[in-house]
Amino acid sequence: MFSGQNLENTEARGGEHDMAKIRVLIAKPGLDGHDRGALVISQGLRDHGMEVIYTGLRQSPAQIAKAAIQEDVDVIGLSSLSGAHRTLFPKVIEELNALNAGDIPVVGGGVIPAEDISYLMEKGIKRIFTSGSSIEELATYIQHLVGEPSGEVTKKISHIGIAVKSIDDVLPFYTNTLGLEFEGFEEIESEGVKVAFVKIGESRFELLEAIRESSPIHKFIEKKGEGIHHIAVQVDDIEARIKQIKRNGIQFVQEEPKVGAHDSRIAFLHPKSTHGVLFELCEESGGEES
Ligand code: ZN
Repeated sequence: MFSGQNLENTEARGGEHDMAKIRVLIAKPGLDGHDRGALVISQGLRDHGMEVIYTGLRQSPAQIAKAAIQEDVDVIGLSSLSGAHRTLFPKVIEELNALNAGDIPVVGGGVIPAEDISYLMEKGIKRIFTSGSSIEELATYIQHLVGEPSGEVTKKISHIGIAVKSIDDVLPFYTNTLGLEFEGFEEIESEGVKVAFVKIGESRFELLEAIRESSPIHKFIEKKGEGIHHIAVQVDDIEARIKQIKRNGIQFVQEEPKVGAHDSRIAFLHPKSTHGVLFELCEESGGEES
């Protein structure tokens, strides 16, 4: 994933402070003897338009905290290969707090065993990127961290899709037994389905009945029987989300958004990429509350 990155130009920043750019301090606390990984990350983040200051090897947590404040960075990225992350990463947070700079977010990466991740996050590290992570994931996360708070990738569950043999047969369960509000039917010819929406709080159940044998819902029921078919998460800008999720190595069932119920625009993530769950991205039409 990192091949072909240009490793020239990795010296510390010089020149003017560009206000438009996200500023990142990359630091290696502790005694690691080599910094190829940190240099690759620095260059990778620069390729994503960020201003990166690299502290060099063998910095103490106190030096790192001071450098972050002096350089007025938005984020600190700590890298460790030495196994000292359990003590040194939390130490950086302590030093920042001592200098009243606890609001600078810190992310960590390197060779970090999975069982240490929750410990480090408890100590205040925002996110750990293990060696399997890509620069794209890191860059996306930093942009998200620094960006406006409403920039979440996904906002809420739009609906849960449930494959049924007959909407008429199951609807009384949802309305009478569960006491939910039926909102209406819709036929989506392109998918070969009839859909009934049942409102629950700010989300919905989407009951899906095949109207012909070539429908994916017909095939699903043949194979697995009735049951939960997909989970749809609401997004603001579906093209941007598809791009961003693809950069994280996730495959889609189809690359272009298509039109779903209520004139929403939808795209399905491939369940092979998502540990068995069929996720739908759903950009609802007509803004927030339609
Ligand atoms: Zn759906």
